[in-house]
Amino acid sequence: MSKTFVRLITAVSLSASLCGIAQSANQQKQDVFGYTNTPIIPGTQWHVHDPRRPQPEVVTPKSAVVQQAPADAIVLFDGSNMDAFERSKDSKPVQWLIEDGVVTIQKDPKTGKNQSIRTKEKLGDMQLHIEWRSPVKTDKKRQQKGNSGLYIMGRYEVQILDSYQNPVYPDGQAAALYGQTPPLANASLPPGVWQSYDIVFEAPKFDDKGKLTKKAHATVFHNGVLVQHRTPLNGPTGHKSVKEYQAHGPSPLVIQDHSSPVSFRNIWVRKLGNLN
Ligand code: MG
Repeated sequence: MSKTFVRLITAVSLSASLCGIAQSANQQKQDVFGYTNTPIIPGTQWHVHDPRRPQPEVVTPKSAVVQQAPADAIVLFDGSNMDAFERSKDSKPVQWLIEDGVVTIQKDPKTGKNQSIRTKEKLGDMQLHIEWRSPVKTDKKRQQKGNSGLYIMGRYEVQILDSYQNPVYPDGQAAALYGQTPPLANASLPPGVWQSYDIVFEAPKFDDKGKLTKKAHATVFHNGVLVQHRTPLNGPTGHKSVKEYQAHGPSPLVIQDHSSPVSFRNIWVRKLGNLN
């Protein structure tokens, strides 16, 4: 862990007297880790992973949105097999654990190494539905707790994290566009409970010379709650960094293995043609 990792006590619902001395007895404090020596996120006043950035309002839904694949969808996982995926590193078959129609991240049984996976299908503009569940039993905390993620086009992460009563730097919580934009609300459900993402992703566009002509955009519903509203991406996802766009075409969807046994079911995608 970096020595620059800082701890910051931020007060939310801070209610001080007008003279600034007395504080309300019901002051709530959050202990949030993050970084303040990272680059400024373009278009904001915040550093990448800034713990001082306001925490999204907690809006707890009753349940995930469970929706079966429409007729024109590409079904990526229906509970039976992971044939639509391959391992990102070596294109070998995925060895995640499939049980009772649910697939759960696990390390490579032979090597003990993480195995992030990617779709065999290359995707661009898309509608994506996925249901996921954070592990109940874990000794991990904060940014490590139930961490996974959807790297759309292999580059742009919609974060998966156990963000139920687990405050982290806001651009790293569940449904954040990691390192760039926190969700509009924290719509997380407890670990062990199924959650859903419904995502509309607009691929970035480039001209013949590779120059960016349209940023990528993401709209995300977390358990039916709008949490990203056609949010532009500044470039590919980075950790403690800001990355520039590099021209690319349709690319696989990657699901991250971040050493947490996150489970998934009912994954499907609809290609949307060429959105403008
Ligand atoms: Mg992640």
